Order: sequence, then structure tokens, then C-alpha cells
Amino acid sequence: MKGQRISLDELHEECGVLGIYGVEDASHRAFLGLEALQHRGQQACGLAVCGPDRRLRIRKGAGLVRDVFPEESLSTLPGDTCIGHVRYPTTAVGGRENIQPFSITSKAGTFAYAHNGNIVNADEIKASLEEHGHLFQSTSDSELFAHLIGMGANADGWVRSIIAAANQLDGAFSTVVLAGGILYACRDKYGFRPLSVGRLEGGYAVASETCALNAMGAEFLRDIEPGELVVIGPDGIQSYRHSQHPGRYMCAMEFIYFARPDSDIEGCNVHAFRKRTGRLLFEEHPVPADIVVGVPDSSLSAAMGYSEASGIPLERGLLKNIYVARTFIQPAQSLRDLGVRMKMSPIRSVVESKSLILIDDSIVRGTTSRQIVRLLRDAGAREVHMLIASPKYAWPCFYGIDTGTSDQLIGASHTEQEICEFIGADSLHYLSEQALLQASCRTTLCTACFSGHYPTALYGADE
Ligand code: SF4
Repeated sequence: MKGQRISLDELHEECGVLGIYGVEDASHRAFLGLEALQHRGQQACGLAVCGPDRRLRIRKGAGLVRDVFPEESLSTLPGDTCIGHVRYPTTAVGGRENIQPFSITSKAGTFAYAHNGNIVNADEIKASLEEHGHLFQSTSDSELFAHLIGMGANADGWVRSIIAAANQLDGAFSTVVLAGGILYACRDKYGFRPLSVGRLEGGYAVASETCALNAMGAEFLRDIEPGELVVIGPDGIQSYRHSQHPGRYMCAMEFIYFARPDSDIEGCNVHAFRKRTGRLLFEEHPVPADIVVGVPDSSLSAAMGYSEASGIPLERGLLKNIYVARTFIQPAQSLRDLGVRMKMSPIRSVVESKSLILIDDSIVRGTTSRQIVRLLRDAGAREVHMLIASPKYAWPCFYGIDTGTSDQLIGASHTEQEICEFIGADSLHYLSEQALLQASCRTTLCTACFSGHYPTALYGADE
């Protein structure tokens, strides 16, 4: 939408957030939580901790959580309340000034802020603030929310200013704020990104995914509702509404691809959801074959579901080398092609002379799928039938997922038959949107990247 995009053939999540209130050595717990959220962003991470002296200490940097926070660094961040962030950049490039949490000084004091999602009316609001003399330290949309909070902050406390800020913004945000030793956690009115709260020893924790609550040793209490602001302080949890918007539009791709299988999103376990998509994929597309193979890791649960429903044996035909550098940071197409080969290996003795069903979660540009089909054929596969555990991905995302622009999405300009020919499969089938909803056990999701029906106005972002 704005800023520089990275050329890619995979979808990438923008960020993950967490917060802890009232827990001794909060930074050590937060480290565990950030590591559990690492899949949501590997470019940078940070922690803001409120110390016993009520001072905010912030440590952040580019790289993985364990690189930015060597163990000895955590003892330099004393305190029982903190917020943290992992980042994958979508709307801005990766300078240090864009690494969160941000720290903002307002007339009510200094506060820290971290955010997951993408604000669709950011340009309009930012332009108006700049006209009134506001200076932005970063090129990230996320700083905008922090500025709005800072503008409204006064002696009445922070609740009113956070609600006023949330009401000006449209789009996706799951946000944590640390101000005056109190933790605030807020979700946008549509509920695009997940955010849950749990009990942690004598205090509380919030996190983008329940897998992070588990990693920190917290007991899940509930999801923060779309349009809700939760305040966590000495009086426990207090709840406020910043919006009464009736719609619920959790991002379907959180279920399909981004979230960890051990996370529960709004009461639905991600692994169980993916298995159901596999079963429904078989009901919609029963393809005869010798074995079912899932593209690791995010498609393994769907492959399991297809295998169970069809009775066709599930096999480990592809192995993923998790230690190879991510392909999307390599600039040239030739290197990206090589990257797929380094990252994914077929097991020849499994696939040789077999007709196989290859299950993947989605096709973005098609080049990775083509590489994988070629790898399997080179390893002796007789037939490769590609089945996708989601509908055809044909529209860009404006809510915090790096999809590239329409012209990078093969589904935007090619029919299923053309995509099948491009990737070199014997057949290609997608899950229907109706089956996707059925698998999620709910009646509404954001499915805009499949349908083009966006839950919000786009404020010219689609131009
Ligand atoms: S457009 Fe797609 S990727 Fe973006 S929030 Fe909606 S479902 Fe998720």
C-alpha cells in the first residue's frame, strides 16, 4: 500500500505483540512470549519495561529475539510490567526508528506503545497532524496511533485518550500501551488480528496468540473483543468499549497460514481448523492418488485432514530445512529459485513412481509452487495433484499482511487452469469460501483477499 514492498512468493505477517502486568522479572517471561511469537516477525523485536522506579527502559534491535536479547540483557530490564513486539515490515522499510515499542513523551507523561496490523486511513490522519506541526520519528503507520494517544493524554488518565485515538483510526490494530505502570490492550472494531488475555502468577499477560500465553506460563482467560479496550492494573482487569461495531472480521489467513497450530483464535484451535479444511477439501475435490503430502509446515494439518477423510495414506514427501535463510530476502529470482531447493527437499523413496496429492495453504505468485512441483517430479513423482486449503488468493491485503500488489498475485490475473499449467501440476483445486467458513465454525471472517469484499473503506489505498 505505502512504502517499499519486498518482492516475495510467500505471505508474511506484520507483527506480534504482548504485555505483562504485575509479574516479577517480567522481561524474562516476555522473552519466552516473544520467542513464541517469532513466526509473526523476524526482522526486529523490542521490549519496554516499567521499572521499580517507574522509569521506562526500552531495548530493541534488528534480528531474532534470542539475538536482540542475550540472557544477560534481560537483567538490565528490571520491572514487573512490560510490553513487547516482533516485527515484519510491510508499510515501511526496516530502519531502527521503525522498531517497536515506540516511546512517546506527552503532557501526561512518557508511555510506550506497540501495534500489530495496518491502519487504512493513516495517510489522511498523518497529513493532517503534520499540517498542525507534528513530527514523526519513524515511517511506520504504527507511530500514528501513539501520537494520537499522546495528544489526548491528560490528567483524566489514559482511557479517554486511547478511546479517542482508536475512534479516529480505521483498519486493523491489536495494540498494547504501557503508561504510568498500567497495561492497556485494545483491538480494532472489526477484530482483524487476535489478542488474548491470561492470568500469570499474581498478575496478567496479553499476547497476539495463545501459544505465547502458554510459553510464558499464563493461563488463558479470554479473547479481547473487537472494539474493546482492556485496562490491567492494581484493580485487576477493567473493560471499556471504543466501538459498538457489530461485525467480526478475523483475518482468515491467521487460521490458514500465520498463526501457530497450537494457538486458539476466538475459541477455535488453529490445527483443528486446518484439519477441517483438509477434510472439506476432500469432500469438494476427491482426487484418486497413492499418497497425500503436505507442504511443510503450515499445510501439514490440512494434509492430515485430507488423508483421514479419504483413507489415502499421509506421507512425508517433503522435508523443510528450517536453518536455511528465508528465501524472500534474496533479491534475484534466480537466487529465490535456488532458495526453494535449499529450503525444501523431496524424499525420493517416498514419492518415486507415486501419484500424489500435494496440499498447500495458498498460492501467492506461483513460483514457489512451481518449484515444489518440479522438485517432486525430479524425484520421480508420477502425478502431482495440487490442492489448496483455501480459496484462490486474488486480492491484496490492506490490513497488515504483506501480499505484494495485485500484479504480483497470480490469482488476480490467471484462471485456475492457467495457474495449473504455470505450476506444472496435473490438476489444481481450491477450497470454496463456504467451506472455509464452515471450517472456522463461524459465520463471518475477513476473506477480502479471496473475494475482494473489504470490510473497511480503503481510502484510496487500492489505487
Ligand atoms: S485481506 Fe486476507 S490477509 Fe488481509 S486481513 Fe483479510 S483475510 Fe487476512
